[in-house]
Amino acid sequence: MKPHDGLYIDGAWRPAAGGDLIQVVNPADEQVIGQVPAAGAEDVDTAVRAARAALPAWAATPPAERAARLTALRDVLVARQEEIAETVTAELGAPTKLSQVVHAALPIAVAGSYAELAATHPFEEKVGNSTVHLEPIGVVGAITPWNYPLHQIVAKAAPALAAGCTIVVKPAEDTPLTAQLFAEAVHEAGVPAGVFNLVTGLGPVAGQALAEHPDVDLVSFTGSTAVGRRIGAVAGGALKKVALELGGKSANVILPSADLAKAVNVGVANVMSNSGQTCSAWTRMLVHADQYDEAVELARAAAAKYGDRIGPVVNAGQRDRVRGYIEKGLAEGARLVAGGPDAPRERGYYVSPTVFADVTPEMTIAQEEIFGPVLTVLKYVDEEDALRIANGTVYGLAGAVWAGDEAEAVAFARRMDTGQVDINGGRFNPRAPFGGYKQSGVGRELGVHGLTEYLQTKSLQF
Ligand code: NAD
Repeated sequence: MKPHDGLYIDGAWRPAAGGDLIQVVNPADEQVIGQVPAAGAEDVDTAVRAARAALPAWAATPPAERAARLTALRDVLVARQEEIAETVTAELGAPTKLSQVVHAALPIAVAGSYAELAATHPFEEKVGNSTVHLEPIGVVGAITPWNYPLHQIVAKAAPALAAGCTIVVKPAEDTPLTAQLFAEAVHEAGVPAGVFNLVTGLGPVAGQALAEHPDVDLVSFTGSTAVGRRIGAVAGGALKKVALELGGKSANVILPSADLAKAVNVGVANVMSNSGQTCSAWTRMLVHADQYDEAVELARAAAAKYGDRIGPVVNAGQRDRVRGYIEKGLAEGARLVAGGPDAPRERGYYVSPTVFADVTPEMTIAQEEIFGPVLTVLKYVDEEDALRIANGTVYGLAGAVWAGDEAEAVAFARRMDTGQVDINGGRFNPRAPFGGYKQSGVGRELGVHGLTEYLQTKSLQF
């Protein structure tokens, strides 16, 4: 797609107040592929005013009409699926197939689910002598990361629109073109001016101005725990509602009765997908001592098969950060069985698919989110030990359990401190609540639980 040189505010592309620009780079070959405006506080203010002005009419729009706009939006995303996939590949570096099957397809499913929910959700309920109205929270400030550039925006914009909220989105600086494409789709779908607004810009400038803006009612943030903590503090200080989807360090627990080869192969694929840049990736594989050596060999072979098929990470900073973690793993005594810190190619921000064995729970690589294609394999001696290790980080976003018997896996999963668990390779469900325990976040996205984040109650007594 051709980059816009403006910001999408109040239904039109408008020039930014200042002249600062963000260069967009293709991480596969380090070439600049476009530039977009870097909005300042003044632009953010203009966008928030537009969202505020559009709020009364959109909030009063019957849910069936909001559903119709979301259905139209879903249809535009379907029609432009190929262009979306190409754009994500160009600015994120994701392999073409992944861009088509996940990056372009998942947002269609999510937009479709909210079109349906807007039409069917009871925005009114009876509680004894009260009628409870579920009303939109108001103006939403959404700040999103680059790892799933379109999904992260749709997971906020679709429920916000379904609820009757208006929204200003500040997308990640690495992936603004996908965001611009989405704004075009919203426009094409006939969403009224001011209901959806897009300000591209830097996190500490435009992102911060949005989080701090006094006329934003809810700040919905997805990104790192460090930035999330600051945004939570700013929002808390202003007594604003806040939703935070943050980092993860999820455990893939393979119980002795499981199909070991399947559990290891799916586990490696889960970590290497999107070059390890998935917040819910199962980056800690937990294997019983008796099966440990066999599992490590299976993981090594599975990682080796990825070789060149893995995409780059998003930028030079991330590449250096991931390599730094690999070096830290070596320094702390973990055993490298695949990959390593060396650059696998001359050009592009590539990192080799990496597997560490002999990882102990307190090592940095077992505790901190690496956000790259790096798997750690840990050993447990019994189930209690496995549970202690699985729950032994500050995070709690996702996880997996494998066992010969489903009930055995479920019993273990129920004891995990985490928001999502896949049982024996269960499929991702775009309607199930997604979000974290502990420092992985506050609130939930997707499905009806995600919609609820954008609603507030008003009780009328009779
Ligand atoms: P990041 O926190 O650096 O940036 C996320 C967004 O916040 C970007 O739009 C950025 O511009 C903005 N930002 C940065 N500083 C800001 C500030 N001071 N004020 C306001 N906004 C600011 O994260 P990232 O590197 O883009 O993304 C990777 C992180 O996101 C990982 O930690 C990952 O786990 C997390 N993540 C979480 C989920 C989830 O659903 N829980 C999903 C995807 C990614």
